[in-house]
Amino acid sequence: MFVKLEGRRVLLVGAGPVGEAKVGGLLSAGAAVTVVAPEATQGIRKLADEGRLIWQQREFNPNDLDGVTLVIAAVPSQIASAIYEDAQVRQVLVNSVDDPDNCDFYYPAVVNRGDLQIAISTAGHSPALAQRIRLELERQFGPEYEQWLRQLGQARRELFASQMEPDVRKQRLHRLAAGKPGMVYLVGAGPGDPELLTLKALRILGQADVVLHDDLLTQEILELIPPASRVECVGKRHGERQVTQQEINRRLVEYGRAGQTVVRLKGGDGAIFGRASEEIQALRDADIAFTIVPGVTAASGAAAAAGVSLTDRRVGSALVFLTAQRCKGNPPPNWKAVAELGGTTAIYMPGGHEADLARQLIDAGLPRDTPCVVVGSASRADEAVVQTTLGALPDMPKLPAPAVLLIGVVGGPARAGDGPQAEDRVEIPSRRNAAADQRKN
Ligand code: SAH
Repeated sequence: MFVKLEGRRVLLVGAGPVGEAKVGGLLSAGAAVTVVAPEATQGIRKLADEGRLIWQQREFNPNDLDGVTLVIAAVPSQIASAIYEDAQVRQVLVNSVDDPDNCDFYYPAVVNRGDLQIAISTAGHSPALAQRIRLELERQFGPEYEQWLRQLGQARRELFASQMEPDVRKQRLHRLAAGKPGMVYLVGAGPGDPELLTLKALRILGQADVVLHDDLLTQEILELIPPASRVECVGKRHGERQVTQQEINRRLVEYGRAGQTVVRLKGGDGAIFGRASEEIQALRDADIAFTIVPGVTAASGAAAAAGVSLTDRRVGSALVFLTAQRCKGNPPPNWKAVAELGGTTAIYMPGGHEADLARQLIDAGLPRDTPCVVVGSASRADEAVVQTTLGALPDMPKLPAPAVLLIGVVGGPARAGDGPQAEDRVEIPSRRNAAADQRKN
């Protein structure tokens, strides 16, 4: 039933768990609910205390039906049939829960996508079948239909406002509705190893009409994109022409509006130093449905590569994600606050800023022997891990990008006299760092 209940009186007889289950829907439809029952569940008592419904603690009385639009009987069958008879006389519609003989109307199972509502009824024969069909329809008509319906409505109003042959308009409206709603997935692909994709990311990748990815994506992951999908590299370091963030936003909106399944695929977690908020805003402004799929961020991949934990409760209770790159005009991080927090600091995009970072943190009070781990290409074939200290960081051979810098507890507390000095523990598994090997020897 799609009845506008706003402000109308609905009577619920019976306030056990079965009755309580009906209350939420009635209240959210804006009905003025009166409950009549000698006993009530905690939930109904609470709603009565909060003034959200009226509970009259007594038996049902036929006069309760006066001025009521609907009555729900959540009571044993004999009482329900008495209520049903009284309601017939007063022409009030009745639903007796799980009791089709004493019903004027049934509660459908409903697929709810905003203003798109699909109701399923089995005339009381099998609510279980109705549930099953609801689940199937929910899969078929995803959350993106809510926005899409709004867009269809908007288009329809615009067409009606324009001068147009009614037949042409009708055709146009049918063609619009024959499409499918677009959906933009903002997907984090993890640090590079395809096994670090989430199951969700993998599934969505398999459905993509178009994939827009950045430079951090490995070949192995790109190979998982179905051959029929269009692939656009929009990374900053992309060989040809630079694609601006504005252009990426524009394409996401355009493809989404055209009804495509769009995957914006980013290294790590897209919501960490990945400009996701600008894309979210563009999609929101354009009213395009989107879903965020988080990924394994570089710092997690790096800690795994180094065989360390990002946090250690014995040493600290903070984990800070910082980037050495700053948007023009943004103030530098508060290094003193970072130093005082303790715990671990993960610095993204450290390349070229190592000396500066080390100096800032030492000036801010971190000891020179604070352990550091630099991890390049975490989780990839050319993964490299270098262990050093804050003091020795500037002299460290540069790892090729992408590399992430972990500072703090992760290397294990390095105190003076605590075994070999951290400076002596430089391990360089990657052959690229021959220079450092030489210096060590
Ligand atoms: N959204 C990404 C970060 C993007 S910023 C994430 O959550 O991981 C790009 C920086 O991420 C690189 O400069 C580097 O610091 C880091 N990074 C990304 N992938 C990496 C990897 N496999 N190994 C080491 N660092 C990585």
